[in-house]
Formats: sequence, C-alpha cells, structure tokens
Amino acid sequence: LTQILFLLDKVNQMHILPIKLSNTSYNVHIGSHILQQAGPLISSLLSVKKVFIIADENVAALHLNTLTDSLNLAQISYETILIPPGENTKSIHNYEIVTNQLLERGIERKTPIIALGGGVTGDLSGFAAATTLRGVPFIQIPTTLLSQVDSSVGGKTGINTPTGKNLIGAFYQPEIVIADTHTLDTLPIRELKAGYAEIVKAGLIDDVELFEWCEKYGQYIIQKDQKYLTTAIEKACAFKARIIKNDEYEQNSKGRNLLNLGHSLGHTLEAELGYDGRMLHGEAVALGCCLIFKLCTKMGLCPESDTHRVIQHFSAIGLPTSIKGLPTKLSASNLLTHLKHDKKVKDGKILFILVNGIGKTFTSQEVTENDLYQLLIDDGC
Ligand code: NAD
Ligand code: MG
Repeated sequence: LTQILFLLDKVNQMHILPIKLSNTSYNVHIGSHILQQAGPLISSLLSVKKVFIIADENVAALHLNTLTDSLNLAQISYETILIPPGENTKSIHNYEIVTNQLLERGIERKTPIIALGGGVTGDLSGFAAATTLRGVPFIQIPTTLLSQVDSSVGGKTGINTPTGKNLIGAFYQPEIVIADTHTLDTLPIRELKAGYAEIVKAGLIDDVELFEWCEKYGQYIIQKDQKYLTTAIEKACAFKARIIKNDEYEQNSKGRNLLNLGHSLGHTLEAELGYDGRMLHGEAVALGCCLIFKLCTKMGLCPESDTHRVIQHFSAIGLPTSIKGLPTKLSASNLLTHLKHDKKVKDGKILFILVNGIGKTFTSQEVTENDLYQLLIDDGC
C-alpha cells in the first residue's frame, strides 16, 4: 500500500498538457519521477503487449532500467535497440540498421516504438516509426532539456545527409510524450543550459511573460530544481503547441518559421565551428538570438534596452552572447557563405526572423549582405 500511495503521490504531481492538432491529439506528461509510470500510462492509452525501445547508449546505461521496470509492471514485453550517442547517429546508415532490426525482430503494425533519449534518438526513432510498415505508433520519452521543451513535441522527425542537417524526414506525431524532469539529473550542465536557450527563445518570439519568468527563475532551472523545470517545460511546450496548431506542416511564413528565431545565424555558427561539440545547438541559438537583436537595434527596429536585456539574461546563465567572446576567431565571409546555404533561402534571399522587441517577431527578406557583414565585423569577426 505504501508503494501505491507513493506512486499516486507522484502521479498527482504529473502535469498534463494536451496538444490538439487537426487530425490528431496527444498529451505531454511532465513531472519528476514519472518514468516509473511509463508502462501503466502506455497501457492505459494503447492496448499493446509489446514495444520496441530505441535508446542511445549513454541514456540506456542511466535510465533504461527504470523504463523496463515500469513496462514489466504493466505486463508489456519489450525489445531494445541501442544506438551510439551523437549527432552522427542521425544518418541514413543508422536508419537502415535500426529499421532492419525492427523488421528482423518482427515488428507489427500496432507495435509502438519508444524513443528514450535526446533529440538525436527522437528524430531517428520517429523517422523509423513514420516509415516502418508505413507507420507504427510512436512514443517519445525525451531525456534532455532540449528534447523535453522542443524536439519531442511538434512531429518533426528526420535524419541528416552529407548535404546537410534534417534533410530527409517526415511529419509524424507521437501518441504520447513523457518528460521526466528527474532524468535531467544526469544530464551534463552544458547540455542543460543549451536546452534552456530554446525556452528563452520561445519567450523572445511572442511571449514577454515567459521571458520575464525566465529572468526571474532561470537560475533555478540551471540548478535543476524539479518544480521550476516542470513549469518551464510546460510553458515552453504550451508555446510550441500554440504555434504548431496553426501551422502543422510549416506552410505559413508567420507560423512554425518563427520558431527559427536566431537559428539561421545559429546554424551558420554551428557549421563553421563544426558539429563536434565546440558549439552546441542551443549555445548557437543563444548567440544567434543576440545577433538578431543587435542587428535589429542597428536597423532602428528594436529598442536598445530590449537587446541589452536579452544579452544580460543569456550571459547570466553562462550562454554565449557575442562572437568576440568565443575562443575561436571567426571569418565574416566564411559565415556569410554558410548563411547562403541555409534551408530558409527563398528565391535566393534568406528569410530572417527579425524583432521589434522582446516577444515581437516578424519575418523579412530585406536584410542585405552588407548589413550582415557589418554586424559580424562589429561583433568580433
Ligand atoms: P542529443 O540527443 O545528442 O543528446 C545530447 C547528449 O546528452 C548525448 O550525448 C546523449 O547521450 C546525452 N544524454 C541524453 N539524455 C541524457 C541524460 N538524461 N543524462 C545524461 N546524458 C544524457 O542532443 P539533443 O540536444 O537532445 O538533441 C539535438 C538534436 O535534436 C539535433 O539533432 C537536432 O536537429 C534535433 N532537434 C529536433 C527538433 C525537432 O523538432 N524534431 C527540434 C530541435 C532539435
Ligand atoms: Mg532549435
């Protein structure tokens, strides 16, 4: 009985955020120690006897047992496929390995795939789920802050090719997302901060209150306070749900596109520094957002005080805010070359997300190469 009461207590602390889309809806469950509940949650949703778990090796070593114990509790049998950690895993080669394994081990149309891990695991597993047998049920159990606030919600799945990131993929929504903040206890602090940048970004896009909340409580998130983490994830997912609801397939220039605030410049920095950990995606997004605010202030579009606040907050958290502050000297012309290969180029012009202030974004193709060059030089190139 004590055990049951303990579990009920934990369940009570679970926050549930519904995501309602035109053809489907699902819940994001957020809370501390809710991985223990995954088995019962899944069996209350889908009548399944078996699941496939795809997990990266790091995460499997830390959290797979908790998941499999909960599946045992719910009398769900499982098979596990381990993938190596790191961005390189999101490849056609690994996609082939994973789907072959699923098929060889007899996956059926109704057998769910559970992704246990960060965005890399979620994106690869989601694409495997979308395409194996033309689609099997998909369950997201994100274990990085980035995947809990961003990649596990919204249905984008995919892999990289030698030409670029995320160029092959599918929109494929999960049946349920289970975000256990306790799994973040083992996440390296640098990864946590990088994920936090995407929460701040959400506030900068169209939610001043969220940004203010971050200014006030961001430090608690970095200290991995479970209560603040739960609230932050809920706020960020609610924000993302609102955006994707109106633009599930990224067809509207004012919809999902806005989620890319700071990302064109961010991707450019990542490409220049190489995807080898010298700069994490969220770090690049933080710096990318700062650059956009600086650019917009220079262009007379955004008050300097807002730009100052943004820089102030990212720097208080320990995220990069200027090119000058980076350990590597960068060349403005190299950065501009990368920028021209961005996915968001339309009719030869880059679609930028610009700002009139915190929480006030709009899209524009009016930024000139000269504006960008000057920005990069002034910022330390
Ligand atoms: P990741 O999946 O590579 O995880 C980062 C590192 O943390 C890995 O080494 C992993 O093994 C480790 N890790 C994960 N959880 C851990 C835990 N609880 N404890 C200890 N270590 C843990 O990286 P990420 O930042 O989660 O995701 C990045 C990927 O997400 C990129 O490929 C990006 O393209 C993708 N992404 C997708 C979307 C989308 O909408 N689908 C959105 C944003 C990002
Ligand atoms: Mg991002």
